[in-house]
Amino acid sequence: MLVVHKYGGTSVGDLDRIENVANRVAKAREAGNDIVVVVSAMSGETNKLIGYAEHFTSTPAKKELDMLLSSGERVTAALLSIALQSKGFDAVAMTGRQAGIVTDDTHTYARIETIDPTAMHNAIDEGKVVVVAGFQGINKDGSVTTLGRGGSDLSAVALAGALKADQCEIYSDVDGIYTTDPRIEPNAKKLDTISYDEMLELSSLGAKVLQNRSVELAKKLGVKLYAKSSFSDNEGTLISEENDNMEEVLVSGVVLDKNQARVTLRGVSDRPGIAAEIFTKLASENINVDIIIQNVGTDGATNLGFTVPQSEHENAKKVMAGFDHDIEGMDFDEHVCKVSVVGVGMKSHSGVAATAFRVLADNNINIQMISTSEIKVSMVIDEKYGELAIRTLHEAYELDK
Ligand code: ASP
Ligand code: MG
Repeated sequence: MLVVHKYGGTSVGDLDRIENVANRVAKAREAGNDIVVVVSAMSGETNKLIGYAEHFTSTPAKKELDMLLSSGERVTAALLSIALQSKGFDAVAMTGRQAGIVTDDTHTYARIETIDPTAMHNAIDEGKVVVVAGFQGINKDGSVTTLGRGGSDLSAVALAGALKADQCEIYSDVDGIYTTDPRIEPNAKKLDTISYDEMLELSSLGAKVLQNRSVELAKKLGVKLYAKSSFSDNEGTLISEENDNMEEVLVSGVVLDKNQARVTLRGVSDRPGIAAEIFTKLASENINVDIIIQNVGTDGATNLGFTVPQSEHENAKKVMAGFDHDIEGMDFDEHVCKVSVVGVGMKSHSGVAATAFRVLADNNINIQMISTSEIKVSMVIDEKYGELAIRTLHEAYELDK
């Protein structure tokens, strides 16, 4: 098997931990696998480097920043390779460029354009473990670029795709994806499997474990992803294409998003183009709108509600003030949250949404907005009931079983 391992900052946080990673890689190698390892910078290192740059100016040139930040991952790659060699394993460290990664020109947030895996394949054929510095590539001019924060996950998935690896294992200090945040519900269970789409919907549960962009890429390339812990031998969670077994499970997880504010517009002129004007203006101010609800109008007016990130709440207020000739009244509430129930099983089973509404009703929690997709039901409720809602929904769908 050809396996890509990726170790995050905490997993390579000091020399002992790098040694621990070397032992794990050695074990996988001894089991007869070909291994490509992608590493992050040691934890805190990237922030420290940014701090160094900001000692001189609050606006360092992004091109120089990339040169600087890419060094963090190189240090880890070289050290891990040295550690492996010291244990008698043949290993070679590569930068993003040496691994064949070419990106566009967007410094500090580059997109991978092509990967030429020849050098990696040659090293593998020579029996080497390849250790690649994550989070980086070069652009067409040969300048170093980085892939955005958390970008080593993206490197790992992209390399797994280019190498046609059998699987990509992402190691962190968490042993997988849970049915909900264990800090809210201590009975949360680790999931054995989850589909890419569910993972993307539950992104806040996996935020510490997997960068969202990397899950999107894994889905696109069909890379079999595992989220595992580098501190245990637990199975971890497999993130993969949907299958029939997954559909038997009604709900995979419930998730709380506290970062929501609600905007309600009353008596909005019911004419063609009004929604386009409002949401174009919000978009031009870079305000991300999440749930949108509009009712059927009566007497030439309608009601329109939507949610924005809490941090954008004041901006949204300012934008909406520009529409007062088209809107009778506005109402803003930043003390709301969104609870979502996610599961591919919803596609083939009815009643999932009804159960959610019933559970909230039984707890006297008023639902302010509802939005659904094929695999998700989201409800906007008062912020103070968010955690209660998560715990009761978790129980109602028997996610603790
Ligand atoms: N070191 C980079 C960061 O801290 C990339 C990564 O760890 O994935 O964002
Ligand atoms: Mg990470």
